Amino acid sequence: MQSGKDSVAPSNVPLLDVGRGNAPIRERFLQRIAEIYDQGCFIGGPDCKELERLVAEACGVEYAIGCASGSDALLLALMAFDIGHGDEVIVPSFTFFATASAVARLGARPVFVDIDPVSFNINPELIHKHITPRTRAIIPVHLFGQCADMNAINEIAQRYGLVVIEDAAQAIGAQHAAQPACSMSDVGCLSFYPTKNLGGCGDGGMVTARDADVADRLRKLANHGMHPRYHHSLIGINSRLDTFQAAMLAIKMEFVEQYADARRANAARYQSRLGASKMAEWLELPSESEGNHHVWNQFTIRVKGGLRDRVREDMRQAGVGSEVYYPIPLHLQECFQYLGVRHGSLPQTEKAAAEVLSLPIFPELTAAELDRAIDVLESTLARMSQTAAA
Ligand SMILES: *Cc1c(COP(=O)(O)O)cnc(C)c1O
Repeated sequence: MQSGKDSVAPSNVPLLDVGRGNAPIRERFLQRIAEIYDQGCFIGGPDCKELERLVAEACGVEYAIGCASGSDALLLALMAFDIGHGDEVIVPSFTFFATASAVARLGARPVFVDIDPVSFNINPELIHKHITPRTRAIIPVHLFGQCADMNAINEIAQRYGLVVIEDAAQAIGAQHAAQPACSMSDVGCLSFYPTKNLGGCGDGGMVTARDADVADRLRKLANHGMHPRYHHSLIGINSRLDTFQAAMLAIKMEFVEQYADARRANAARYQSRLGASKMAEWLELPSESEGNHHVWNQFTIRVKGGLRDRVREDMRQAGVGSEVYYPIPLHLQECFQYLGVRHGSLPQTEKAAAEVLSLPIFPELTAAELDRAIDVLESTLARMSQTAAA
């Protein structure tokens, strides 16, 4: 719905505006910060416990354990299963770096699998041929806020006795076959980086578990493997969620569904307008796979005809923000060249990296801003397609 204020076309449309999302809870947050400041308990404490309870409930899991970041969540998940030297872990290449770096940091080998071109998520049909006697785990990523095909992935994992770790950093609140993200695997990993669907005022993360022993290991590992105090049964790390972040996030948990609904409404408007656009033939729109509940951390289109970078630059000049997530697949990153995965070996991943463009979709984006983003995209494409055809 367009309010009077919204109907004035804005000249600049940001890709993200974290401040706008945080503004409505400013007073509540600052008051809680002041209380914590005066109490002087800055690590753990009741705010962390409360957030863990809220996230566990929302994700339909028994256990949730705060940690320092989504990247650490992935590291802790692998550590909980003693994954390291000599082990292989199946991951997509079309994802954020941390999915694979956690594997490599532990001395294990990331084994990259290509994606489904429609969902952008790991293609379960391609997993089989990458499984070896050394394969220990699969890390499906729920990219852009949509769950990977977890039923198919879990079937494979069961057959080969593999651990499954969900990278749900972009997907809190998403569902697959009515099951929430993080509830469909051994360990779920969440990030509270400020631009994620549940974002803090700094770094933060969480691991979820359905098994008590795994949860116990995760909690120990995140605190130097220590329990009780100064008794170390495991070699853990320091990865704790700080109290300020937990307090902020616990307040925001009240709104996490509302945020996702606003993103879904923005996605629906993009779909209907771009779907009917005269320029539709130059675009491929993202979609919600059957049985999924997509929470749209990103609205990621494909721009065809090799026009993506020019379109992006043109939109930037017109004041409309966009971003390429991700321009270089992980198997082509310099630091992963030792794995020997050559150019051309993951064709769908490489094609996506060349075509994708993420448009503004944050919950507080106004209808006028969204319309302006679409107008600018359309006029840019109209101009470029003419020169491309000429
Ligand atoms: C953001 C993100 C991470 C890492 O989370 P941080 O909290 O930034 O460490 C991991 N995987 C994916 C897919 C992400 O988007």
